[in-house]
Amino acid sequence: MDILLYNTLSGKKEPFVPLKAGAVGMYHCGPTVYDDAHIGNLRSYVFADTLRRAFEYNGYAVKQIVNITDVGHLTSDADEGEDKMTKALKRLGKPLDLESMKEVAGIYEGHFVRDLGLLNIETPTSLPRASEHVQKDIELIEALEGKGFVYKAGDGIYFDTGRFPGYGALGKPRGQSADGKAEDGKARVVNPEKRHPADFAVWKSDPKLGWESPWGKGFPGWHIECSAMSREYLGQPFDIHTGGVDHIPVHHNNEIAQSEAAYGEPLARYWMHNAFLTMNAGKMAKSAGGAITLGALAENGIDPLSYRYWLMTGHYRSPMDFSYDAVKAAQNAYRRLLEAVAGYPEGGSAVESARKRFAEAIGNDLDMPAAIALAWEVVKDKAIPDADKRATLLDFDRVLGLKLGTAPRSAGDVPSEVTALAEERERARAAKDWKKADELRAEIEARGFEVKDAGTGFSLVPKR
Ligand code: AMP
Ligand code: ZN
Repeated sequence: MDILLYNTLSGKKEPFVPLKAGAVGMYHCGPTVYDDAHIGNLRSYVFADTLRRAFEYNGYAVKQIVNITDVGHLTSDADEGEDKMTKALKRLGKPLDLESMKEVAGIYEGHFVRDLGLLNIETPTSLPRASEHVQKDIELIEALEGKGFVYKAGDGIYFDTGRFPGYGALGKPRGQSADGKAEDGKARVVNPEKRHPADFAVWKSDPKLGWESPWGKGFPGWHIECSAMSREYLGQPFDIHTGGVDHIPVHHNNEIAQSEAAYGEPLARYWMHNAFLTMNAGKMAKSAGGAITLGALAENGIDPLSYRYWLMTGHYRSPMDFSYDAVKAAQNAYRRLLEAVAGYPEGGSAVESARKRFAEAIGNDLDMPAAIALAWEVVKDKAIPDADKRATLLDFDRVLGLKLGTAPRSAGDVPSEVTALAEERERARAAKDWKKADELRAEIEARGFEVKDAGTGFSLVPKR
């Protein structure tokens, strides 16, 4: 059966045709590990996970890459502002060196992987770190240099978009006029050494912090890492590239330009973008304040999987406006679904006609709202024996990823994994490993519980 995907490159839904029969390679722009991911960022990875699971449901072998940006992403997607990692070092009062950068990145990378687990996101095939692929970036820049696509400016090496006629393949390139005004008419600082406002840095000079390169000490431009690592892990071209819609005009247009200019091959065949998670109708962003993490959801009594359920009730290309009330309503529905499944006996088999409709829904550009509606239809269908309902819903759950086979949890119940963490913390305390004990406390808190030490043991209470 065809899997239809909306391709930003063509602006249409297209049947997916793999490069290699039965296999799919996908690359998802990963987090910049300078802080915890907010639930808007995490929407991108729930979307990527759903895509992966939909392919697996259809029998594909999936290779999935999510990069870890631990260097080089400036506070603006354009070449302005400060490196986000450097900013994190200053925020945390750490020395400005690569060692500290690695340490800080390691902490937030750990949190990111934890969050993926909490959302039941399957572990990607690989999570390559930008800092460990700088040599690959250098090779790519050298290829561009050999073909005359880059030029030197005072603060680094720039890609010359004027030499790449197809620039802006995914949509309107970043629109700045030569006078430095952005599309919105606001003045912005444009490096006067740039030949064209859309030109972007592939290497940023930094005499104090960074890596040695043929262009002196510094660090790779943010865009180059995705071009270099996707090629390294998936080849060029590969099947599917995803990210949030904010990446279309700058980051992804730049990735395409530099990869195609360097190697004369398309970068990826399908480009898919998830819409934003908004709050009070504005984009959820760390810089805008009010960025909500899974920890904050837990403090408000919301499980990560309830958030996942809520995301499934919207289409990935539609913006969703977050509110605690909306997600709490979804949590109630999700618990009712868990209760329904828990009440059905085992030993049935999945209903073929329902499976077919489910496959059609997910194959229609991941129509998860239709898939969720179908799950409820199965629950309500009096003609289906209960054991078959269970088998059908567990079959759907291979894509929904909602752990439908687990017992519903009422507010206040302590999940077994939280108890296990608290026990591990007890052992760490007994061994006087205070660092580990603190880390485990944070893990427990991220799951919505507070651990209280009581004499020889401990108690766990929900954080409110
Ligand atoms: P970053 O760590 O900023 O590079 O972002 C990681 C991923 O989250 C990227 O794919 C972004 O496009 C995506 N993203 C950022 N903010 C939001 C949001 N509010 N809603 C949905 N996706 C987002
Ligand atoms: Zn990227």
